[in-house]
Amino acid sequence: MAADYYQTLGVAKNASAEEIKKAYRKSALKYHPDKNQGDKGAASKFKEISEAYEVLSDEKKRQIYDQYGADALAGGMPGGGAGGGFSSMEDALRTFMGAFGGGGQESIFETFFGFDTEGGQGRAREGASKKMNLTLSFEEAIRGTEKEVAITRQVPCDTCNGLGAASPSGISSCGHCGGSGQIHQTRGFFSMTTVCPSCQGQGQIIKNPCPSCRGAGRIKAKETIQIKVPPGVDSGMRLRMDGYGDAGAGGGPSGDLYVYINVTPHEIFQREGDDVLIEVPLAFTEAALGCKKEIPTPMGGTARIVIPEGTQTGKVFRVRGGGVKNVNKQGQGDLHVRVSIETPVDLSDKQKALLESFAELETAQNSPRKRTFFDKLKSFFG
Ligand SMILES: [Zn+2]
Ligand SMILES: [Zn+2]
Repeated sequence: MAADYYQTLGVAKNASAEEIKKAYRKSALKYHPDKNQGDKGAASKFKEISEAYEVLSDEKKRQIYDQYGADALAGGMPGGGAGGGFSSMEDALRTFMGAFGGGGQESIFETFFGFDTEGGQGRAREGASKKMNLTLSFEEAIRGTEKEVAITRQVPCDTCNGLGAASPSGISSCGHCGGSGQIHQTRGFFSMTTVCPSCQGQGQIIKNPCPSCRGAGRIKAKETIQIKVPPGVDSGMRLRMDGYGDAGAGGGPSGDLYVYINVTPHEIFQREGDDVLIEVPLAFTEAALGCKKEIPTPMGGTARIVIPEGTQTGKVFRVRGGGVKNVNKQGQGDLHVRVSIETPVDLSDKQKALLESFAELETAQNSPRKRTFFDKLKSFFG
């Protein structure tokens, strides 16, 4: 994890923003997944350099990184919810898009990547990633659960095995581009590569398309899938389901499914990361005289809290390990018990009489906060 971002990009520590961008673009083009289909090494290298660029291209992040190292940034990184760093190709690709100017420049990508047929694998492209929201109850989130959900996605066509043709003999190489799927043109100094308009970059022409998928090689299917939710997830976290996105074109790998977690609030427990807060009302006599309380804990069971006499409202008692199990299996949070003192209402005549006699015996020492307050007021006016 302690990678040196400068080394990763091959630039000096004092490199300018322009140098960093240039170095990233060069490496990113080399390791881009569209150019390295199925190459795990290239994919992780692409993620690494994208992560490095994400930090070094941002002046603030770079400053923090220079001063404190990568760990100081882990919480703020995209996808940092479950482990920090660039866990997903989606994040890396987003960085990549940013470095190449982002919106409105897609034609550059197509020219560079989409239809690169080197090695004859250019037609296979990874399928699109899919997103879905998953709402969980508080209990499901802290204990973990399995959820059955219905998704609609592109899957390889069964009839033609993803070929798109009714029979393999019905596929012929595109005559316009010679099967490469791209057209090379030279304009002045520039050599341009564009998508073949005849075959839309496929490099092949299907004479009699498969009747089930009409030549696409993929069909829309509704599926029921099982999502295993680990204990400790919280709102804003995201689970990745490898291969549950759309099927790739031309036999390319499927994209991933991203499940965005949303947890509905609980009536008495409140998550604060792995810690949990519970608000407990006390009668003023309990707070004044002291008492013991059994407090329910979110993971089950109870914790016994000793409330000392003279406890004030807002006081927080901590039960170590009484919180939620960490989603990355890094320990368990605490339970924070915050007490609030309730002023008694609906008093009987007898209770009132007792409180009146109590009030007659009250001294300034019984209410130190009130005394300090009025002392301050006095010195303010006097
Ligand atoms: Zn063509
Ligand atoms: Zn088909």
